[in-house]
Amino acid sequence: MHSKETEAATQKAKDLIRMSVARACCLEPLQEFSLPVDKNALVVGGGVAGMTAALSLANQRHDVYLVEKEKQLGGMARRIHSTLEGMDVQAYLNDLMHKVYQHPLVHVYTEAAIVDAEGYVGNFTTKVRSKRGLTEIKHGAAIIAIGAEEHRPTEYLYGEDERVMTQLELEERIAADDTAITDAQSLVMIQCVGCRNEDRNYCSRICCSHAVKNALTLKEQNPSMDIYVLFRDMRTYRFAEDYYRKASENNVKFIRYEPEDAPVVEAADGEDRPVLRVTATDYILGRKIELDADLLVLSAATVPASTSDEVSRQFKVTLGPDGFFTEAHVKLRPVDFAAEGIFLCGTAHYPKHIGETISQAYGAAGRAAGLLSQDSLIASGSVCQVEESMCVSCGACISACSYGAIDFHENAQGYRAARVNPVLCKGDGLCNAKCPTGAIQLKHFTDKEIVRQLDAEIPDPKILATA
Ligand SMILES: Cc1cc2nc3c(=O)[nH]c(=O)nc-3n(C[C@H](O)[C@H](O)[C@H](O)COP(=O)(O)OP(=O)(O)OC[C@H]3O[C@@H](n4cnc5c(N)ncnc54)[C@H](O)[C@@H]3O)c2cc1C
Repeated sequence: MHSKETEAATQKAKDLIRMSVARACCLEPLQEFSLPVDKNALVVGGGVAGMTAALSLANQRHDVYLVEKEKQLGGMARRIHSTLEGMDVQAYLNDLMHKVYQHPLVHVYTEAAIVDAEGYVGNFTTKVRSKRGLTEIKHGAAIIAIGAEEHRPTEYLYGEDERVMTQLELEERIAADDTAITDAQSLVMIQCVGCRNEDRNYCSRICCSHAVKNALTLKEQNPSMDIYVLFRDMRTYRFAEDYYRKASENNVKFIRYEPEDAPVVEAADGEDRPVLRVTATDYILGRKIELDADLLVLSAATVPASTSDEVSRQFKVTLGPDGFFTEAHVKLRPVDFAAEGIFLCGTAHYPKHIGETISQAYGAAGRAAGLLSQDSLIASGSVCQVEESMCVSCGACISACSYGAIDFHENAQGYRAARVNPVLCKGDGLCNAKCPTGAIQLKHFTDKEIVRQLDAEIPDPKILATA
Protein backbone atom coordinates (compact mmCIF):
# COMPACT_ATOMS: atom_id res chain seq x y z
CA MET A 1 0.00 0.00 0.00
CA HIS A 2 2.97 2.31 0.43
CA SER A 3 4.72 1.25 -2.78
CA LYS A 4 4.80 4.79 -4.14
CA GLU A 5 5.82 6.42 -0.85
CA THR A 6 9.06 4.68 -0.04
CA GLU A 7 10.42 7.43 2.25
CA ALA A 8 7.24 7.62 4.29
CA ALA A 9 6.97 3.83 4.41
CA THR A 10 10.50 3.47 5.76
CA GLN A 11 9.78 6.14 8.37
CA LYS A 12 6.61 4.33 9.38
CA ALA A 13 8.47 1.02 9.71
CA LYS A 14 11.06 2.73 11.93
CA ASP A 15 8.30 4.26 14.07
CA LEU A 16 6.56 0.90 14.49
CA ILE A 17 9.76 -0.87 15.47
CA ARG A 18 10.70 1.89 17.91
CA MET A 19 7.21 1.76 19.47
CA SER A 20 7.35 -2.04 19.77
CA VAL A 21 10.77 -1.93 21.37
CA ALA A 22 9.56 0.71 23.85
CA ARG A 23 6.66 -1.54 24.83
CA ALA A 24 8.75 -4.72 24.89
CA CYS A 25 10.98 -3.10 27.51
CA CYS A 26 8.19 -3.26 30.08
CA LEU A 27 6.72 -6.65 29.20
CA GLU A 28 6.35 -9.13 32.01
CA PRO A 29 6.18 -12.91 31.73
CA LEU A 30 2.67 -14.33 31.42
CA GLN A 31 1.65 -17.57 33.00
CA GLU A 32 -0.70 -19.79 31.01
CA PHE A 33 -2.40 -22.44 33.05
CA SER A 34 -3.97 -25.77 32.35
CA LEU A 35 -7.54 -26.63 33.43
CA PRO A 36 -8.93 -30.14 33.67
CA VAL A 37 -12.14 -30.83 31.68
CA ASP A 38 -15.07 -32.64 33.31
CA LYS A 39 -16.40 -35.07 30.69
CA ASN A 40 -20.10 -34.74 31.63
CA ALA A 41 -22.62 -32.45 29.96
CA LEU A 42 -25.74 -30.67 31.16
CA VAL A 43 -28.66 -30.05 28.79
CA VAL A 44 -31.35 -27.61 29.93
CA GLY A 45 -34.72 -28.25 28.26
CA GLY A 46 -36.14 -31.59 27.20
CA GLY A 47 -37.79 -30.65 23.89
CA VAL A 48 -36.69 -31.98 20.49
CA ALA A 49 -33.53 -29.83 20.63
CA GLY A 50 -32.47 -30.86 24.13
CA MET A 51 -33.21 -34.56 23.61
CA THR A 52 -31.42 -34.67 20.24
CA ALA A 53 -28.34 -32.96 21.66
CA ALA A 54 -28.37 -35.17 24.79
CA LEU A 55 -28.58 -38.38 22.75
CA SER A 56 -25.86 -37.26 20.39
CA LEU A 57 -23.48 -36.57 23.31
CA ALA A 58 -24.43 -39.78 25.10
CA ASN A 59 -23.71 -41.74 21.91
CA GLN A 60 -20.23 -40.21 22.07
CA ARG A 61 -19.87 -41.72 25.57
CA HIS A 62 -20.45 -38.67 27.69
CA ASP A 63 -22.76 -38.76 30.69
CA VAL A 64 -25.53 -36.25 30.02
CA TYR A 65 -27.86 -34.69 32.62
CA LEU A 66 -31.08 -33.64 30.90
CA VAL A 67 -33.11 -31.16 32.97
CA GLU A 68 -36.76 -30.55 32.04
CA LYS A 69 -39.09 -28.31 34.00
CA GLU A 70 -42.30 -30.10 32.98
CA LYS A 71 -43.52 -33.56 33.98
CA GLN A 72 -42.92 -34.95 30.49
CA LEU A 73 -40.26 -34.54 27.84
CA GLY A 74 -41.16 -33.35 24.35
CA GLY A 75 -41.82 -29.61 24.71
CA MET A 76 -43.73 -27.84 21.95
CA ALA A 77 -43.54 -30.85 19.61
CA ARG A 78 -46.07 -32.65 21.82
CA ARG A 79 -48.67 -30.31 20.32
CA ILE A 80 -47.55 -30.67 16.70
CA HIS A 81 -48.81 -33.68 14.75
CA SER A 82 -47.18 -33.36 11.34
CA THR A 83 -44.77 -31.09 9.53
CA LEU A 84 -45.57 -29.39 6.24
CA GLU A 85 -43.50 -32.04 4.48
CA GLY A 86 -45.60 -34.80 6.07
CA MET A 87 -43.33 -36.05 8.87
CA ASP A 88 -45.28 -37.82 11.64
CA VAL A 89 -44.08 -35.70 14.57
CA GLN A 90 -45.67 -37.79 17.32
CA ALA A 91 -44.08 -41.03 16.04
CA TYR A 92 -40.70 -39.27 15.77
CA LEU A 93 -41.08 -37.81 19.26
CA ASN A 94 -42.07 -41.10 20.88
CA ASP A 95 -39.08 -42.81 19.31
CA LEU A 96 -36.77 -40.00 20.48
CA MET A 97 -38.13 -40.11 24.05
CA HIS A 98 -37.81 -43.89 24.11
CA LYS A 99 -34.14 -43.66 23.05
CA VAL A 100 -33.46 -40.98 25.67
CA TYR A 101 -35.03 -42.96 28.52
CA GLN A 102 -33.31 -46.18 27.40
CA HIS A 103 -29.85 -44.70 27.06
CA PRO A 104 -27.72 -45.62 30.09
CA LEU A 105 -25.72 -42.37 29.88
CA VAL A 106 -28.68 -39.95 29.74
CA HIS A 107 -29.90 -39.02 33.22
CA VAL A 108 -33.32 -37.37 32.98
CA TYR A 109 -34.59 -34.96 35.63
CA THR A 110 -38.24 -33.98 35.02
CA GLU A 111 -40.25 -31.44 37.03
CA ALA A 112 -36.85 -29.99 37.74
CA ALA A 113 -35.63 -26.44 38.26
CA ILE A 114 -32.14 -25.07 38.15
CA VAL A 115 -31.37 -23.42 41.46
CA ASP A 116 -27.87 -22.22 40.83
CA ALA A 117 -25.15 -22.48 38.18
CA GLU A 118 -21.52 -21.55 38.65
CA GLY A 119 -18.10 -22.32 37.29
CA TYR A 120 -16.36 -21.96 33.96
CA VAL A 121 -15.52 -23.83 30.79
CA GLY A 122 -14.74 -27.45 31.57
CA ASN A 123 -15.72 -27.11 35.24
CA PHE A 124 -19.31 -26.07 35.91
CA THR A 125 -21.39 -26.96 38.98
CA THR A 126 -25.17 -26.72 38.66
CA LYS A 127 -27.69 -27.36 41.41
CA VAL A 128 -30.98 -28.88 40.30
CA ARG A 129 -34.08 -29.28 42.43
CA SER A 130 -36.41 -32.12 41.41
CA LYS A 131 -38.43 -34.93 42.95
CA ARG A 132 -35.10 -36.58 43.70
CA GLY A 133 -34.22 -33.64 45.97
CA LEU A 134 -31.38 -31.21 45.45
CA THR A 135 -28.71 -32.61 43.11
CA GLU A 136 -25.33 -31.04 42.46
CA ILE A 137 -24.19 -31.78 38.92
CA LYS A 138 -20.61 -31.28 37.83
CA HIS A 139 -20.18 -30.86 34.09
CA GLY A 140 -17.72 -29.54 31.55
CA ALA A 141 -20.24 -28.15 29.04
CA ALA A 142 -23.85 -26.98 29.04
CA ILE A 143 -26.42 -26.76 26.24
CA ILE A 144 -29.30 -24.35 26.65
CA ALA A 145 -32.40 -25.63 24.80
CA ILE A 146 -35.32 -24.13 26.70
CA GLY A 147 -37.38 -23.46 23.56
CA ALA A 148 -40.06 -20.86 23.01
CA GLU A 149 -43.79 -20.44 23.57
CA GLU A 150 -46.88 -19.47 21.63
CA HIS A 151 -48.06 -15.92 22.33
CA ARG A 152 -51.51 -15.65 23.90
CA PRO A 153 -53.39 -13.12 21.74
CA THR A 154 -55.43 -10.32 23.30
CA GLU A 155 -57.14 -9.24 20.08
CA TYR A 156 -59.72 -10.55 17.56
CA LEU A 157 -62.06 -11.90 20.32
CA TYR A 158 -59.50 -14.52 21.38
CA GLY A 159 -60.47 -15.84 24.83
CA GLU A 160 -63.95 -14.28 24.48
CA ASP A 161 -65.43 -16.42 21.70
CA GLU A 162 -64.69 -20.15 21.56
CA ARG A 163 -64.75 -20.09 17.74
CA VAL A 164 -61.48 -18.11 17.85
CA MET A 165 -58.30 -20.17 18.34
CA THR A 166 -54.57 -20.23 17.57
CA GLN A 167 -52.92 -22.39 14.87
CA LEU A 168 -51.63 -24.80 17.53
CA GLU A 169 -55.11 -25.17 19.01
CA LEU A 170 -56.51 -25.75 15.52
CA GLU A 171 -53.90 -28.43 14.85
CA GLU A 172 -54.76 -30.20 18.12
CA ARG A 173 -58.48 -30.16 17.30
CA ILE A 174 -57.88 -31.47 13.76
CA ALA A 175 -55.77 -34.30 15.24
CA ALA A 176 -58.59 -35.08 17.70
CA ASP A 177 -61.05 -35.37 14.73
CA ASP A 178 -63.19 -32.55 16.13
CA THR A 179 -66.13 -32.32 13.71
CA ALA A 180 -66.81 -28.71 14.75
CA ILE A 181 -63.60 -28.00 12.87
CA THR A 182 -63.71 -30.41 9.94
CA ASP A 183 -67.40 -29.75 9.15
CA ALA A 184 -67.08 -25.94 9.21
CA GLN A 185 -68.23 -24.16 6.05
CA SER A 186 -65.87 -21.25 6.28
CA LEU A 187 -62.62 -20.53 8.14
CA VAL A 188 -60.48 -17.38 8.23
CA MET A 189 -56.83 -17.27 9.33
CA ILE A 190 -55.10 -14.04 10.35
CA GLN A 191 -51.29 -13.99 10.17
CA CYS A 192 -48.73 -12.01 12.21
CA VAL A 193 -50.82 -11.77 15.39
CA GLY A 194 -48.65 -10.31 18.12
CA CYS A 195 -45.45 -9.87 16.12
CA ARG A 196 -43.94 -7.57 13.48
CA ASN A 197 -45.25 -4.71 15.58
CA GLU A 198 -43.70 -2.20 17.95
CA ASP A 199 -43.64 -4.61 20.90
CA ARG A 200 -42.24 -7.58 18.99
CA ASN A 201 -40.49 -6.31 15.94
CA TYR A 202 -39.55 -9.71 14.49
CA CYS A 203 -41.04 -12.34 12.20
CA SER A 204 -41.99 -15.62 13.92
CA ARG A 205 -40.93 -17.54 10.76
CA ILE A 206 -42.98 -20.66 11.54
CA CYS A 207 -46.54 -19.34 11.28
CA CYS A 208 -46.90 -18.95 7.48
CA SER A 209 -45.92 -22.59 6.89
CA HIS A 210 -48.06 -23.65 9.87
CA ALA A 211 -51.10 -21.87 8.38
CA VAL A 212 -50.51 -23.41 4.92
CA LYS A 213 -50.10 -26.86 6.55
CA ASN A 214 -53.37 -26.59 8.49
CA ALA A 215 -55.22 -25.17 5.46
CA LEU A 216 -54.03 -28.05 3.24
CA THR A 217 -55.03 -30.65 5.88
CA LEU A 218 -58.51 -29.10 6.20
CA LYS A 219 -58.94 -28.93 2.42
CA GLU A 220 -58.04 -32.63 2.23
CA GLN A 221 -60.66 -33.52 4.84
CA ASN A 222 -63.35 -31.11 3.66
CA PRO A 223 -62.67 -29.80 0.12
CA SER A 224 -65.78 -27.59 0.13
CA MET A 225 -64.63 -25.55 3.15
CA ASP A 226 -63.93 -21.90 2.27
CA ILE A 227 -60.52 -20.97 3.69
CA TYR A 228 -59.15 -17.43 3.65
CA VAL A 229 -55.67 -16.45 4.84
CA LEU A 230 -55.25 -12.75 5.66
CA PHE A 231 -51.52 -12.11 5.51
CA ARG A 232 -48.96 -9.30 5.50
CA ASP A 233 -46.25 -11.20 3.57
CA MET A 234 -46.32 -14.96 3.03
CA ARG A 235 -42.97 -16.21 4.28
CA THR A 236 -43.08 -19.90 3.36
CA TYR A 237 -39.33 -19.90 2.82
CA ARG A 238 -37.25 -22.58 1.09
CA PHE A 239 -39.20 -25.44 -0.56
CA ALA A 240 -42.28 -24.63 1.55
CA GLU A 241 -43.11 -22.20 -1.27
CA ASP A 242 -44.36 -25.27 -3.21
CA TYR A 243 -46.99 -25.91 -0.52
CA TYR A 244 -48.08 -22.26 -0.65
CA ARG A 245 -48.61 -22.69 -4.40
CA LYS A 246 -50.45 -25.97 -3.79
CA ALA A 247 -52.76 -24.27 -1.26
CA SER A 248 -53.59 -21.56 -3.85
CA GLU A 249 -54.31 -24.26 -6.42
CA ASN A 250 -56.62 -25.95 -3.87
CA ASN A 251 -58.63 -22.74 -3.69
CA VAL A 252 -57.29 -21.41 -0.37
CA LYS A 253 -57.67 -17.65 -0.83
CA PHE A 254 -54.79 -15.43 0.25
CA ILE A 255 -55.64 -11.77 0.92
CA ARG A 256 -53.00 -9.21 1.88
CA TYR A 257 -53.65 -6.72 4.67
CA GLU A 258 -51.63 -3.74 5.89
CA PRO A 259 -50.88 -3.34 9.62
CA GLU A 260 -52.44 0.14 9.73
CA ASP A 261 -55.62 -1.29 8.19
CA ALA A 262 -55.80 -4.58 10.12
CA PRO A 263 -58.87 -6.84 9.84
CA VAL A 264 -61.78 -6.18 12.22
CA VAL A 265 -63.64 -9.13 13.78
CA GLU A 266 -67.13 -9.13 15.33
CA ALA A 267 -69.71 -11.75 16.21
CA ALA A 268 -72.69 -11.32 13.83
CA ASP A 269 -75.78 -13.03 12.45
CA GLY A 270 -75.00 -14.54 9.06
CA GLU A 271 -77.57 -15.55 6.43
CA ASP A 272 -78.37 -18.90 8.02
CA ARG A 273 -76.15 -19.11 11.16
CA PRO A 274 -74.27 -17.04 13.70
CA VAL A 275 -70.85 -16.16 12.29
CA LEU A 276 -67.67 -14.29 13.02
CA ARG A 277 -67.66 -11.40 10.57
CA VAL A 278 -64.17 -10.41 9.41
CA THR A 279 -63.92 -7.07 7.62
CA ALA A 280 -60.73 -6.37 5.67
CA THR A 281 -59.55 -4.34 2.70
CA ASP A 282 -58.84 -6.32 -0.46
CA TYR A 283 -56.09 -4.33 -2.17
CA ILE A 284 -56.62 -6.12 -5.52
CA LEU A 285 -60.35 -5.39 -5.61
CA GLY A 286 -59.64 -1.99 -4.08
CA ARG A 287 -62.53 -2.18 -1.60
CA LYS A 288 -63.60 -3.50 1.80
CA ILE A 289 -64.77 -7.10 1.94
CA GLU A 290 -66.72 -9.00 4.59
CA LEU A 291 -65.99 -12.68 5.27
CA ASP A 292 -68.53 -14.64 7.35
CA ALA A 293 -66.55 -17.36 9.12
CA ASP A 294 -67.49 -20.27 11.38
CA LEU A 295 -63.97 -20.32 12.79
CA LEU A 296 -61.21 -17.76 13.15
CA VAL A 297 -57.63 -18.99 13.50
CA LEU A 298 -54.87 -16.67 14.68
CA SER A 299 -51.26 -17.27 13.71
CA ALA A 300 -49.91 -16.11 17.05
CA ALA A 301 -46.30 -15.03 17.50
CA THR A 302 -43.63 -17.32 18.87
CA VAL A 303 -42.28 -15.67 22.00
CA PRO A 304 -39.23 -16.44 24.18
CA ALA A 305 -39.66 -19.02 26.96
CA SER A 306 -40.93 -17.52 30.21
CA THR A 307 -37.79 -18.80 31.94
CA SER A 308 -35.34 -17.12 29.51
CA ASP A 309 -34.43 -14.22 31.82
CA GLU A 310 -33.77 -16.54 34.73
CA VAL A 311 -31.65 -18.96 32.67
CA SER A 312 -29.76 -16.05 31.15
CA ARG A 313 -28.88 -14.79 34.64
CA GLN A 314 -28.00 -18.23 35.99
CA PHE A 315 -25.60 -19.12 33.17
CA LYS A 316 -24.48 -15.53 32.48
CA VAL A 317 -25.42 -15.78 28.80
CA THR A 318 -26.93 -13.00 26.75
CA LEU A 319 -30.40 -12.39 25.39
CA GLY A 320 -30.98 -10.30 22.27
CA PRO A 321 -33.40 -7.36 22.11
CA ASP A 322 -36.29 -9.72 21.26
CA GLY A 323 -35.64 -11.86 24.34
CA PHE A 324 -34.21 -14.88 22.49
CA PHE A 325 -30.68 -16.08 23.33
CA THR A 326 -27.85 -14.62 21.23
CA GLU A 327 -25.05 -16.63 19.69
CA ALA A 328 -21.41 -15.49 19.96
CA HIS A 329 -21.10 -14.85 16.22
CA VAL A 330 -23.82 -15.34 13.66
CA LYS A 331 -21.51 -16.96 11.10
CA LEU A 332 -18.36 -18.07 12.90
CA ARG A 333 -19.83 -19.36 16.20
CA PRO A 334 -23.55 -19.89 15.48
CA VAL A 335 -24.26 -22.38 18.31
CA ASP A 336 -21.83 -21.00 20.92
CA PHE A 337 -22.50 -18.41 23.54
CA ALA A 338 -19.85 -15.77 24.15
CA ALA A 339 -19.28 -17.49 27.51
CA GLU A 340 -17.10 -20.50 26.74
CA GLY A 341 -18.39 -24.01 27.33
CA ILE A 342 -22.07 -23.06 26.92
CA PHE A 343 -23.95 -23.76 23.68
CA LEU A 344 -27.47 -23.19 22.39
CA CYS A 345 -29.98 -24.78 20.04
CA GLY A 346 -33.64 -24.90 19.09
CA THR A 347 -36.26 -22.21 19.39
CA ALA A 348 -34.54 -20.72 22.46
CA HIS A 349 -32.33 -19.11 19.80
CA TYR A 350 -35.10 -17.96 17.44
CA PRO A 351 -38.26 -19.52 15.96
CA LYS A 352 -37.44 -22.41 13.66
CA HIS A 353 -39.04 -25.54 12.23
CA ILE A 354 -38.46 -28.99 13.72
CA GLY A 355 -36.03 -29.98 10.94
CA GLU A 356 -33.94 -26.85 11.57
CA THR A 357 -34.08 -27.49 15.33
CA ILE A 358 -32.74 -31.04 14.91
CA SER A 359 -29.86 -29.88 12.67
CA GLN A 360 -28.91 -27.16 15.13
CA ALA A 361 -29.07 -29.58 18.07
CA TYR A 362 -26.52 -31.81 16.33
CA GLY A 363 -24.40 -28.70 15.75
CA ALA A 364 -24.48 -27.75 19.44
CA ALA A 365 -23.74 -31.34 20.51
CA GLY A 366 -20.80 -31.42 18.09
CA ARG A 367 -19.34 -28.22 19.55
CA ALA A 368 -19.81 -29.51 23.11
CA ALA A 369 -18.23 -32.88 22.18
CA GLY A 370 -15.22 -31.02 20.74
CA LEU A 371 -14.68 -29.46 24.16
CA LEU A 372 -15.45 -32.57 26.22
CA SER A 373 -13.10 -34.75 24.17
CA GLN A 374 -10.13 -32.78 25.56
CA ASP A 375 -8.54 -33.78 28.86
CA SER A 376 -7.41 -30.27 29.68
CA LEU A 377 -7.63 -26.71 28.38
CA ILE A 378 -4.96 -24.05 28.31
CA ALA A 379 -6.19 -20.72 29.68
CA SER A 380 -4.56 -17.54 28.39
CA GLY A 381 -2.22 -15.59 30.64
CA SER A 382 -3.31 -12.28 29.09
CA VAL A 383 -6.10 -11.60 31.57
CA CYS A 384 -7.01 -8.75 33.89
CA GLN A 385 -5.80 -8.30 37.44
CA VAL A 386 -6.72 -5.85 40.18
CA GLU A 387 -4.35 -3.74 42.27
CA GLU A 388 -6.55 -3.90 45.36
CA SER A 389 -5.01 -0.91 47.12
CA MET A 390 -6.25 1.30 44.24
CA CYS A 391 -9.76 -0.20 43.98
CA VAL A 392 -12.58 2.06 45.22
CA SER A 393 -15.14 -0.76 44.74
CA CYS A 394 -17.33 1.34 42.41
CA GLY A 395 -18.35 -1.77 40.40
CA ALA A 396 -17.76 -0.12 36.97
CA CYS A 397 -15.58 -3.07 35.92
CA ILE A 398 -18.22 -5.59 37.01
CA SER A 399 -20.95 -4.00 34.88
CA ALA A 400 -18.56 -3.66 31.89
CA CYS A 401 -17.58 -7.34 31.87
CA SER A 402 -19.78 -9.48 29.56
CA TYR A 403 -18.30 -12.74 30.85
CA GLY A 404 -19.17 -12.42 34.56
CA ALA A 405 -15.44 -12.68 35.28
CA ILE A 406 -15.30 -10.01 38.02
CA ASP A 407 -16.91 -9.95 41.45
CA PHE A 408 -16.34 -8.28 44.81
CA HIS A 409 -14.59 -9.96 47.69
CA GLU A 410 -13.39 -8.83 51.07
CA ASN A 411 -9.63 -8.47 51.05
CA ALA A 412 -7.18 -9.19 53.86
CA GLN A 413 -7.61 -5.64 55.23
CA GLY A 414 -11.39 -6.11 55.44
CA TYR A 415 -12.14 -3.84 52.43
CA ARG A 416 -14.38 -4.74 49.52
CA ALA A 417 -12.38 -4.96 46.30
CA ALA A 418 -12.92 -6.22 42.77
CA ARG A 419 -11.48 -9.63 41.95
CA VAL A 420 -10.97 -11.22 38.51
CA ASN A 421 -11.54 -14.91 37.82
CA PRO A 422 -8.70 -15.48 35.29
CA VAL A 423 -10.45 -18.49 33.79
CA LEU A 424 -13.54 -16.51 32.82
CA CYS A 425 -11.64 -13.39 31.72
CA LYS A 426 -11.32 -13.06 27.94
CA GLY A 427 -8.94 -10.11 28.08
CA ASP A 428 -11.16 -7.75 26.06
CA GLY A 429 -9.97 -4.81 28.17
CA LEU A 430 -13.38 -3.19 28.64
CA CYS A 431 -13.01 -3.13 32.41
CA ASN A 432 -9.64 -1.32 32.16
CA ALA A 433 -11.19 1.43 30.09
CA LYS A 434 -14.00 1.88 32.65
CA CYS A 435 -11.91 1.79 35.85
CA PRO A 436 -11.69 5.39 37.14
CA THR A 437 -8.58 4.76 39.26
CA GLY A 438 -6.58 2.49 36.95
CA ALA A 439 -6.76 -0.29 39.55
CA ILE A 440 -7.58 -2.94 36.99
CA GLN A 441 -5.00 -3.76 34.35
CA LEU A 442 -4.92 -6.19 31.43
CA LYS A 443 -1.71 -8.19 31.52
CA HIS A 444 0.33 -7.79 28.31
CA PHE A 445 -1.57 -4.52 27.58
CA THR A 446 -0.99 -2.58 30.81
CA ASP A 447 -1.32 1.21 30.87
CA LYS A 448 2.43 1.45 31.35
CA GLU A 449 3.12 -0.65 28.23
CA ILE A 450 0.64 1.21 26.04
CA VAL A 451 1.76 4.66 27.20
CA ARG A 452 5.38 3.74 26.55
CA GLN A 453 4.44 2.58 23.06
CA LEU A 454 2.52 5.79 22.29
CA ASP A 455 5.23 8.02 23.69
CA ALA A 456 7.73 6.33 21.40
CA GLU A 457 5.77 7.34 18.33
CA ILE A 458 7.40 10.77 18.45
CA PRO A 459 11.12 10.18 18.69
CA ASP A 460 12.15 11.55 22.04
CA PRO A 461 15.81 11.21 22.92
CA LYS A 462 14.92 10.39 26.52
CA ILE A 463 12.60 7.53 25.54
CA LEU A 464 15.03 6.30 22.92
CA ALA A 465 17.68 6.21 25.60
CA THR A 466 15.52 4.13 27.95
CA ALA A 467 14.34 1.90 25.08
C1 LIG B 1 -46.75 -21.97 17.83
C2 LIG B 1 -45.74 -22.87 17.21
C3 LIG B 1 -46.07 -23.65 16.12
C4 LIG B 1 -45.14 -24.47 15.50
N1 LIG B 1 -45.47 -25.21 14.41
C5 LIG B 1 -44.54 -25.97 13.78
C6 LIG B 1 -44.85 -26.74 12.64
O1 LIG B 1 -45.99 -26.76 12.20
N2 LIG B 1 -43.86 -27.45 12.03
C7 LIG B 1 -42.58 -27.46 12.50
O2 LIG B 1 -41.70 -28.09 11.91
N3 LIG B 1 -42.26 -26.74 13.62
C8 LIG B 1 -43.20 -26.02 14.25
N4 LIG B 1 -42.88 -25.30 15.37
C9 LIG B 1 -41.48 -25.31 15.83
C10 LIG B 1 -41.17 -26.52 16.71
O3 LIG B 1 -42.08 -26.54 17.77
C11 LIG B 1 -39.76 -26.36 17.19
O4 LIG B 1 -38.83 -26.33 16.15
C12 LIG B 1 -39.30 -27.44 18.17
O5 LIG B 1 -40.34 -28.09 18.79
C13 LIG B 1 -38.44 -26.72 19.16
O6 LIG B 1 -37.89 -27.60 20.06
P1 LIG B 1 -37.04 -27.04 21.28
O7 LIG B 1 -36.56 -28.24 21.99
O8 LIG B 1 -36.08 -26.03 20.82
O9 LIG B 1 -38.08 -26.23 22.18
P2 LIG B 1 -39.36 -26.72 22.98
O10 LIG B 1 -40.09 -27.75 22.24
O11 LIG B 1 -40.08 -25.47 23.34
O12 LIG B 1 -38.75 -27.40 24.28
C14 LIG B 1 -38.13 -26.66 25.29
C15 LIG B 1 -38.25 -27.42 26.58
O13 LIG B 1 -37.52 -26.75 27.58
C16 LIG B 1 -38.28 -26.76 28.78
N5 LIG B 1 -37.82 -25.65 29.61
C17 LIG B 1 -38.09 -24.33 29.48
N6 LIG B 1 -37.46 -23.63 30.44
C18 LIG B 1 -36.78 -24.53 31.20
C19 LIG B 1 -35.94 -24.41 32.33
N7 LIG B 1 -35.64 -23.22 32.87
N8 LIG B 1 -35.44 -25.53 32.87
C20 LIG B 1 -35.71 -26.75 32.33
N9 LIG B 1 -36.50 -26.93 31.25
C21 LIG B 1 -37.02 -25.82 30.69
C22 LIG B 1 -39.72 -26.64 28.31
O14 LIG B 1 -40.62 -27.13 29.28
C23 LIG B 1 -39.69 -27.51 27.06
O15 LIG B 1 -40.00 -28.86 27.34
C24 LIG B 1 -43.81 -24.51 16.03
C25 LIG B 1 -43.48 -23.75 17.15
C26 LIG B 1 -44.42 -22.93 17.74
C27 LIG B 1 -44.03 -22.11 18.95
